[in-house]
Amino acid sequence: MYDIIIIGAGPAGISAAIYGKSRGRKVLVLEKNQVGGLIGMVSTVTHYTAVLKEETGKTFGERMKEQALGAGVEIRYEKVTETKLTGEIKNIVTDQESYQCKTVILANGGSGRMLGISGESLEGMRLNAPKDGPNYKGKNVYVIGGADGAVKEAIYLAKIAAKVTIVCVEDELVCIPEFKEKAALYSNIYMMPHTSLTAVYGAKRAEELEFTDNKTGKKQIVKDAECGVFVYAGIVPNTQMYTELKLVQGYIPVDEWMQTEIPGVFAAGDICVKKVRQVATAVADGAIAGIQAAAMCEWI
Ligand SMILES: Cc1cc2nc3c(=O)[nH]c(=O)nc-3n(C[C@H](O)[C@H](O)[C@H](O)COP(=O)(O)OP(=O)(O)OC[C@H]3O[C@@H](n4cnc5c(N)ncnc54)[C@H](O)[C@@H]3O)c2cc1C
Repeated sequence: MYDIIIIGAGPAGISAAIYGKSRGRKVLVLEKNQVGGLIGMVSTVTHYTAVLKEETGKTFGERMKEQALGAGVEIRYEKVTETKLTGEIKNIVTDQESYQCKTVILANGGSGRMLGISGESLEGMRLNAPKDGPNYKGKNVYVIGGADGAVKEAIYLAKIAAKVTIVCVEDELVCIPEFKEKAALYSNIYMMPHTSLTAVYGAKRAEELEFTDNKTGKKQIVKDAECGVFVYAGIVPNTQMYTELKLVQGYIPVDEWMQTEIPGVFAAGDICVKKVRQVATAVADGAIAGIQAAAMCEWI
């Protein structure tokens, strides 16, 4: 029996674990992939306090892991498949084991939105900029999405690829001014405004991309058997298994103590109803949830 089980080892989950453990609680973190979450997979970590210029997602994630293990947090690499949240003792089922705990913190964030188009799973599609980018040296790449994450990864890719085309549904980039200004400095970054990628064709890998102009409906086929497509078209919350909770547009509502409507069940980070989804807000949520969950264990 654990005092606190945390689902997800992104910034919110790791922060919650470190605070819960510091209060003398028996804490378990369950992570299906790797410590770091979404931020562990980006080219550079920006704007988080005390992060220096060239902090990569990989180094940031590695330091999160080192800090958690150094604090004595137990991390198991298992995918949570089912939860029973109501009742005094919570049941958490993974693809390997079944666990019980007094309190649970739901910190399993979100996943990249699928475009829902044919050919989306072909090779060369849905690539990760820092991992796959170096394979596209001197080639053409497409970044789908015009918000902060997309433009930041496009700037990273512009240092490697011959040409980076940002495909966005809006008339112009919808990112922060800092990224707009930086992107404008690269002569190999191009824009396809009010456009969607609507189909991808190829035998095994992406060879032809079909773009549709959202204003005119006009379709355009681009043939490039060596291109790479990086999709940053929004995030979908990972809340499908939380059927006992009332969700708001897929996100979990919490109070100022990060408590959900079910006693002993907390949520933290991107998975919550909130306005700002950044590392800073995720770790803040995690700190509050970890401290509150630890305090609640006193009474259970
Ligand atoms: C492209 C991009 C760039 C970004 N750049 C920045 C930036 O520079 N600075 C910044 O402050 N923010 C940035 N963000 C936002 C930031 O990454 C998120 O706000 C932050 O990672 C949220 O942390 P989290 O812990 O709530 O969730 P996540 O980081 O999503 O972590 C959730 C974790 O839960 C795990 N998980 C999911 N389901 C299960 C399951 N069933 N069982 C077990 N584990 C599970 C996942 O594998 C993941 O590790 C960026 C986001 C994107 C998409």
